[in-house]
Amino acid sequence: MFVRDYHIHTKLSPCADRIFDVEKVIQIQQERGMKEIGITDHDFSYGYKAKRIEAARNAIKQCDASIPVHFGVESHMLEYRSTSLNIQLASYFDYVLMAPNHYHLRGVAPPSDFKNPKKVAIHEIYMFEAAVACPITDAVVHPFVLAPDVFRFLTKGELSAFGQEVMRNIDQKRLIYQLDLVSQRGIGIEISPKFIRYNQRHLIEFYQLCLEREVKLLIGSDAHNAKQLEDLSVLEPILDELGVQEEHLWQPKVWQW
Ligand SMILES: [Zn+2]
Ligand SMILES: [Zn+2]
Repeated sequence: MFVRDYHIHTKLSPCADRIFDVEKVIQIQQERGMKEIGITDHDFSYGYKAKRIEAARNAIKQCDASIPVHFGVESHMLEYRSTSLNIQLASYFDYVLMAPNHYHLRGVAPPSDFKNPKKVAIHEIYMFEAAVACPITDAVVHPFVLAPDVFRFLTKGELSAFGQEVMRNIDQKRLIYQLDLVSQRGIGIEISPKFIRYNQRHLIEFYQLCLEREVKLLIGSDAHNAKQLEDLSVLEPILDELGVQEEHLWQPKVWQW
């Protein structure tokens, strides 16, 4: 069993369950036998205020957890060289998860045509490159995972087929070059139950390619409620199929001063 979950939201994120607070997350994860976790609310949850970020870190400290609880954040790319979180505020967190494709949020550059798989592919790789090049990125979350609330004109089955078509249009050489950079920089690539929930199993080939290029995988539930914490278990057979061992997994760097 994989016992680390580095992508968890709490009620601080406006999109999460209102009763899902940090005490509850820690309690559930400890009971489930998790060995290490990371709280990663959206950067905008703090109104981009250092005081609110510090208060959230203190709230975690006060929980007196028996397992390490990291204090991370989920940020997102707006454009090339432009992120939602600035570098100074990024330093308040243990690690930064970078989302390349939060198209549902204001200010994020969208593909020029959501209905054209080739154009979506060109934009997805461009945003992925932007996230990899960004100095505050510690891990890239849900790359190439197409969210149903964005591609809402598609049914579940259509979304799956559309996603496959998008991946077929990604330039492999360009992708491999990026994955080699990811590996050199020690950036993690997230694998989360979301890609199964969104019916995009074809992405297994992408995760396989990550492993071939010696990229570390970050396991994250991206939970927004208590039930989604459990969803991590649906990844187990996939991680087995991919032959993922502990040494293939990304972990936050612990800085010693
Ligand atoms: Zn996200
Ligand atoms: Zn998230």
